[in-house]
Amino acid sequence: MSVVLRVPAADWRAHQRRVQAATPGLVPVAKGNGYGFGLARLAAEAAALGVDSLAVGTPAEVAAVRDIFPGRIVVLQPWRPGEPGAEDLLADERVIHTVSRVADLEHLSASGRRPSVLLELLTSMKRHGLTVSELTEVRRVLADDSVDVVGWTVHLPMPAATGGNAAEAERLGKAGLAVRTAPLWFSHLTGADYDRLRATLFTQTRLRIGTELWLGGSVGRRTLATVLDVHPVKRGERVGYWQRTMPADGSVVVVSGGTAHGVALEAPTSAATGRQRLISAVNGSVEALGWALSPFTIAGKKRWFVEPPHMQASMVYVPGSKSIPAIGDEIPVQLRLTTATVDEVVLED
Ligand SMILES: *Cc1c(COP(=O)(O)O)cnc(C)c1O
Repeated sequence: MSVVLRVPAADWRAHQRRVQAATPGLVPVAKGNGYGFGLARLAAEAAALGVDSLAVGTPAEVAAVRDIFPGRIVVLQPWRPGEPGAEDLLADERVIHTVSRVADLEHLSASGRRPSVLLELLTSMKRHGLTVSELTEVRRVLADDSVDVVGWTVHLPMPAATGGNAAEAERLGKAGLAVRTAPLWFSHLTGADYDRLRATLFTQTRLRIGTELWLGGSVGRRTLATVLDVHPVKRGERVGYWQRTMPADGSVVVVSGGTAHGVALEAPTSAATGRQRLISAVNGSVEALGWALSPFTIAGKKRWFVEPPHMQASMVYVPGSKSIPAIGDEIPVQLRLTTATVDEVVLED
């Protein structure tokens, strides 16, 4: 009774190796839901790649990877005093803390532990980071060598939104280097921009990649749900929590996969306008009823939700008497892997 992610292991790992070969200084990112694979799985993949550092999102995520990945662990979310687990993490010498405010840098500097830090520079993202005008103060705090500066970090917007980030990356990188010579860590540079910056910046560079590394390439990944039950229904019969009326004879198919897996109720799409609804109504289509298309495919077609997904299962409608799946059949379910939680990841030969 589960949702399964099936991955051709050899293809997936060949893709990872291609990204690694094209990205000197690669730092894999494993955070949140682990891009659908889970943090432990990605930590193992990163260990197999032989990289020296792995990035996680939050202090709490360090525990999910630290016994599996043997290298250094970067926490991407900036270190803040009082954040759950943040103070304890200072005792872990494998962890690299991201610092985005002068006050936090002072706090770390006074901790007496000489923690390893990445100094984050504020970019046009406007998420977190030190501004260039704060760098004089940063220089002052760094003067007594009370923190170990692992590098400067520059988290850029999506290149597709800006037409490329090379100029901003170079400007900020140089501003950091003027204060302290250290490696430059980037996020969201195109490969071409990264190559060019590596050639011009005269310092070690690192590039943090998640989505493209784990979910990119033409790897034949499949997410599959299981048919749990099939019930014939008559036209006019009312079913489900919400006792919706069935538009024609057919079947209600109960499948694994619900809100807990990230199965969402997409808004009704094609029948948005009144005119379209009228046309659908004349054709006797469920679109006329304002039903929503589900991400589940049965016999080659996306099927309509009978009602919003339940926590761990969903009910979809198959009209007529053909194309009825059997209990136990695996059917494709379209999930966005950055928001999905699958029950099982199966690496296939
Ligand atoms: C999430 C994140 C990344 C990885 O982003 P992808 O788009 O998944 O490659 C890189 N850098 C930072 C700071 C992040 O928060």
